[in-house]
Amino acid sequence: MLFQNVVFGPIQSRRLGTSLGINLLPSNHKICNFDCCYCECGFNEKETGEKPALPSIHDIVSSLEQYASSHTKAEMKKINSITFSGNGEPTLHTDFAEICRLISAFRKEFAPQAKITLLTNATQIGKQDVQNAVRYIDNLLLKLDCGTAEQYNKINRPVSLRFEKLVENLIRFGQGSVIQTLLLKSANPEDGIDNTKDDEFAAYMKIIKQVNPKRIMLYGIDRTTPNSNLIKLSKDELDVYADRLRFIGFETEVY
Ligand code: SF4
Repeated sequence: MLFQNVVFGPIQSRRLGTSLGINLLPSNHKICNFDCCYCECGFNEKETGEKPALPSIHDIVSSLEQYASSHTKAEMKKINSITFSGNGEPTLHTDFAEICRLISAFRKEFAPQAKITLLTNATQIGKQDVQNAVRYIDNLLLKLDCGTAEQYNKINRPVSLRFEKLVENLIRFGQGSVIQTLLLKSANPEDGIDNTKDDEFAAYMKIIKQVNPKRIMLYGIDRTTPNSNLIKLSKDELDVYADRLRFIGFETEVY
């Protein structure tokens, strides 16, 4: 599913409550430097040479103004989270830091109770401008789906960033953040997708210890996935993995 607007929702999120979405990627076009097998936006489109334009700061400000003027104060008060998500990886927007500043001002004026949440694949977290933006973020949710390069390449299908570099970034900048992890396997053995195997989950826990996040969110597939072989784990199954993380001292929630 692709979003057509910069501001969308609010939607009821399993993890964030009433969430007003902010899509910094083009309408109806996914842009991401991962191509996860479970991505709700579908697989990346083949490059055609012509890059779709990102929404400008002007587009974003006018979308926010339009949203605020067409909703009552009571409606704005119900928003729990203003969430960067949408058609791909938000931190790839070249003006990300400035946009975060604008969203922070928007929140202060129209929805002071709302948290600002960033859902990110953490590939850009080491960049200075993203670090500048993070101070405006209340909920920094960093993706880590696995403990080995083998599963990373099968699950997240990165365009370029090596697993070792991603882990290095997470260890350096992820302390005190929230790690979000989707657990899944494939019904097709040829896919080789399974981040629930014992050795794989043990490798993941080893990285978690080094990152030292304040919380971990474990969740299963919720919507249609581009790889139709993927198997959704039940809440009970997810709880088994959550207990392993709790046992080593990490607050872990299951969704
Ligand atoms: S990081 Fe997010 S947007 Fe990018 S491919 Fe994965 S699920 Fe989709």
